[in-house]
Amino acid sequence: MAEILEHTFERITFALPSGPKHVHCWVIEGDRGRMLVDAGMGLPGDDESFRGLEVDAIVLTHMHPDHVGGAQRAAELTGAPVHQLELDYRQCLRVWGSPDWPERIAEWFLSNGVPRKITDELIVSGHAFAPSIRFVRDPQFVAEGNVLDGWEVLWLPGHADGHIALHRGGALVSGDVLLSRISPAVGLYPESRPDPLGDYLRTLERIIELDPRIAYSGHGDPVERPAERARELVAHHRRRLEQTRDALGREPATGYAVSIALFGTWLSPTQQRFAVAETLSHLERLVIEGAVRREKHGRTVSYTGT
Ligand SMILES: [Zn+2]
Repeated sequence: MAEILEHTFERITFALPSGPKHVHCWVIEGDRGRMLVDAGMGLPGDDESFRGLEVDAIVLTHMHPDHVGGAQRAAELTGAPVHQLELDYRQCLRVWGSPDWPERIAEWFLSNGVPRKITDELIVSGHAFAPSIRFVRDPQFVAEGNVLDGWEVLWLPGHADGHIALHRGGALVSGDVLLSRISPAVGLYPESRPDPLGDYLRTLERIIELDPRIAYSGHGDPVERPAERARELVAHHRRRLEQTRDALGREPATGYAVSIALFGTWLSPTQQRFAVAETLSHLERLVIEGAVRREKHGRTVSYTGT
């Protein structure tokens, strides 16, 4: 505990228009200087919080828009170099820096049974949104086990393939690996690691073993008992795996059809896409566990219980 108390954890919170309604960045103390962890979405006015902020490094936990969107302004205003896992940066570039990404991801959702009305909306909103995500090109790469100013870098994939956290003296600055009230989204996406839920379950086991005292998360209150929260999330996904298996009949069903059975149809187009990605991560885990079979007919991917 002493070591945690010796370090200060300063929180910068930005409002978000949707989803969890806010995101936290953390300013943490290292041996020689201070580091900013995450940079918010970069909405108009957000960068005021970075003006005059004295930090020696910026660390990005993962490439989701609410964590990297403000990185360029944060780097400009503080003069600090940005650090990111190489895999995370490659995905950041692919999603926010490729002009044809909305079409590619829309095509992939179509192959998983998502109606064209929803994927067309994704193409329009994707092109409108991507330019507002001002990430930093060619950051300094960090890797699992590196030490940044006294903080150990942990690669904790699942919520995002290239998600990292910083660990020191029982404190984990954890991005979206653990959240206190909601279950972090674990979705399958195209051109990504094949088994994100398997990755995430291993990440949760690692947190249980590490048993940190507190996790300073990207949304909501800090997680006071991280290992206990990790156990709850393991149980949540085990239940969800059973529900996903039970939702499958004898006829092949697409990821979209299974997501409707699990989550219903009342969701917005954005929420529906998250629901499909989440359903697919569970279906793919079940394929690996041997409980579900995946088939491809033409370009349509479908799943059947075994
Ligand atoms: Zn987030």
